[in-house]
Amino acid sequence: MSNVTLTIDGQTVSVPAGTTILQAAQSIGAEIPAICYHEACTPNALCRNCVVEVEGARVLVASCVAQVAANMVVYTRSPRVERSRRTILEMLASAVDLSEAPDIQRMMQEYSADAQRFPQAERREIPLIDDNPMYVRDYSKCILCWRCVQVCADDAQFTFAINFSGRGYETTIGTFFGKPMPATTCVFCGQCVGVCPTGALKPKSEWLLEQGLSIDQVFAATRQERTGAEKRTRTWRRA
Ligand code: SF4
Repeated sequence: MSNVTLTIDGQTVSVPAGTTILQAAQSIGAEIPAICYHEACTPNALCRNCVVEVEGARVLVASCVAQVAANMVVYTRSPRVERSRRTILEMLASAVDLSEAPDIQRMMQEYSADAQRFPQAERREIPLIDDNPMYVRDYSKCILCWRCVQVCADDAQFTFAINFSGRGYETTIGTFFGKPMPATTCVFCGQCVGVCPTGALKPKSEWLLEQGLSIDQVFAATRQERTGAEKRTRTWRRA
């Protein structure tokens, strides 16, 4: 494959054609923050935190999906880029509980984002869903990054148990027809929990420990539920 030469932050870079701007920047140690991007998932340019400025481009460019081009001139941290990232972080903080999202908190510090900038914003307050023995779902902490859906689908597990649900501000991640997780195709592989960057998905045992239960109580509670869930799954499969 032929190489493409471009400039990133004043540095000349030569990378194979088809490389994304994000990968090219990483190859020279330029750090571009990204929230929805995960190396195990297909990039989808949802969070817009990885935007960069490209000379001649009308709008900022999502570097996780935009490919390099010959003689491209890229700025990964211009004032315009910084302002955009800061605003996105501030909007996230205005509506979502980021208390268990350490990477995003670090970004907020780095970009001097003010979590109180939009005090009138309506917060996403959604009751926690505890419907299975393996993990809980707290969509008040969900930033809709799509990672869990991707690993549940064709980026990893091919199970397709979850997807976007609702429209606009009401959008959440959900199951088909809002079914409880044991009644879906979920196989409880845990990959969604593993890629969630905000604590919206959390192992049930961890959550129960946080609620003050002892290890024995956690074990007893989840064992009881596991048995119940297995029975429910068997019934559902026979139906
Ligand atoms: S639950 Fe977690 S991984 Fe899934 S979309 Fe929300 S923040 Fe992303």
